[in-house]
Amino acid sequence: MNGNRKRMAWIAGVVVVLALVPVVAGSFTVSLLNDIGIGALVALGLVLLTGVGGATSFGQAAFVGIAAYATAWLTTTQGMSPWIGLLFALLLTGLSALAIGMLTLRLGGHFLPLSTIAWGLSIAMLFGNVDALGRHTGLSNIPALQVAGWSLAEPRAMYYLIWVVVGLACLFSHNLLQSRPGRAIRGLRGGATLLASVGADAYRVRLSLFVTAALFAGLAGWLYAHMNRFVSPSPFDVRASIEYLLMAVAGGLGQLAGALVGAALVLVLKNGLQDVLPMLTQRAGQLEAVAFAALFILLLHFARGGVMGLLRRWTRRRGAVQGPSRHEAPPVEPLAHRTLPERGSQVLSVNGAVKRFGGLVAVNDVSFDVKAGEIVGLIGPNGAGKSTMFNLLTCTLPMSSGQVRFLAHDIAGMPQRQVARLGLARTFQHVKLRPHMSLLDNVALGAHSRTRSGILKAGLRLDRTEEMQILQEAQRQLDRIGLGDRAHELAGSLPLGTQRILEIARALAADPVLLVLDEPAAGLRRKEKMALGDLLRKLREEGVTILIVEHDMDFVMKLVDRLVVMNFGSKLVEGVPSAVRADERVQAAYLGSVV
Ligand code: ADP
Ligand code: MG
Repeated sequence: MNGNRKRMAWIAGVVVVLALVPVVAGSFTVSLLNDIGIGALVALGLVLLTGVGGATSFGQAAFVGIAAYATAWLTTTQGMSPWIGLLFALLLTGLSALAIGMLTLRLGGHFLPLSTIAWGLSIAMLFGNVDALGRHTGLSNIPALQVAGWSLAEPRAMYYLIWVVVGLACLFSHNLLQSRPGRAIRGLRGGATLLASVGADAYRVRLSLFVTAALFAGLAGWLYAHMNRFVSPSPFDVRASIEYLLMAVAGGLGQLAGALVGAALVLVLKNGLQDVLPMLTQRAGQLEAVAFAALFILLLHFARGGVMGLLRRWTRRRGAVQGPSRHEAPPVEPLAHRTLPERGSQVLSVNGAVKRFGGLVAVNDVSFDVKAGEIVGLIGPNGAGKSTMFNLLTCTLPMSSGQVRFLAHDIAGMPQRQVARLGLARTFQHVKLRPHMSLLDNVALGAHSRTRSGILKAGLRLDRTEEMQILQEAQRQLDRIGLGDRAHELAGSLPLGTQRILEIARALAADPVLLVLDEPAAGLRRKEKMALGDLLRKLREEGVTILIVEHDMDFVMKLVDRLVVMNFGSKLVEGVPSAVRADERVQAAYLGSVV
């Protein structure tokens, strides 16, 4: 609580100072602050897109340009009101981002940033070559904004509009990050498989984030056009894009405030350089670029987290305050539950599953069933094909031939996220948690497919009832696994065994029919294994069906109702633990392998 109050005091202080600046400052300072506000708006989009979502854009200035040109064209050549210009600018920016995003966001690795340079260049080139947009001379005589008959032609008047918009954009982003879509965005860095496992589509999450960031840039472009009353191509080229990215990096990609701090830092520095450099050299413009390049490199070496990152490290060293350990809120109606199938009825049925990797048959004609309310173990020596089987039945890998039925559905070939939505929840052999998110948020991510709110609803805080339901459910699942008192700790601070258990809570938050676990005991100490076993037995009593893929024979023997043993890709034996333990073929298989 204390930490929150401190933050509120900070924000209130900043707001008061910003409100008073135009009263006391000269017109140069006010204009600089206007530029900073506009830069901060673009950088805010980049903090979300690049900092939180992990997608780097070197083309953000193009979106500023699309909006600026859109409103400039509509108000000068068509004589329309700037407010219609705003709608037109946002529409055009949003649609362009949607089209560009659909073309490029599936690109992996370095191809996405490279493609952003390509479209950044082409859009800026377009502005300079279209007659209707004034080619390189641009468009002038753009009307000033009017609010209720009051002209905003004066920079001092424009100042208030800009900073109100910046404030609202910060609030929107803050709300967004603490919501269902926000958690999915924060989950993007965990990879597409993680999101698919909770029923989310990483591509769609990234696309909506990309459009949101572009709309922030579009707002900035609209403000820019009506503040300067003139647009030309050069402020929207790739160099400007890099400057925006530099703002976000310098301020700190990890925090929203980084956008404000970064924009101020870069623009103040740029102004300073523009005063100093001409005294030193004739080629001031080029030297400015060199100075910024040097700043970039220094930042990457010494302060990856930007100014805000440094500040945060500093405050933490002075003893940061911990929040409350549980998520406490007035109770709300719980999220809807699935009706679980009757005990003993068929939940999963694998029929003649085959998976070939080139010439290697990793899974060879394997069939088995799982019935509601039981724990089935799938075991076998290393390389037997267990993980491959696991990937086939969660639809992470396509099958070469065979069928998998889950409840009433043929799921072979279905996208993984759709299978997750049907009620098949999984954990990962190599734990996939978001280390910088709290335990509560990690588990809440699991409830993604049970809820609906999107970015707009979350940003405007219209999702509160649902959000409270999600957090209540997450807290309930944390209680269920015995981590209820550590809800606000970061997942990355937990030991491996506890992280495994936390993944189970995330899977449970999806209200699954079947829980499939890939080698949950691997790398655990004896005590952690016992805790895990106790938890799984407790879940079975509560009616959860569990399929556990495991290498550790002793661990599963004490736990499961039935075992399926694989060796060299084929099913070797199936039966109750005592019979399997006594089976000579199983002993031979395990003895023959290097355990
Ligand atoms: P287990 O989980 O039982 O240890 P796996 O399912 O990981 O076994 O592997 C079964 C066999 O399939 C192994 O011989 C492994 O080398 C092979 N295999 C697994 N994944 C791939 C892949 N993506 N490409 C080629 N071969 C693979
Ligand atoms: Mg394996």
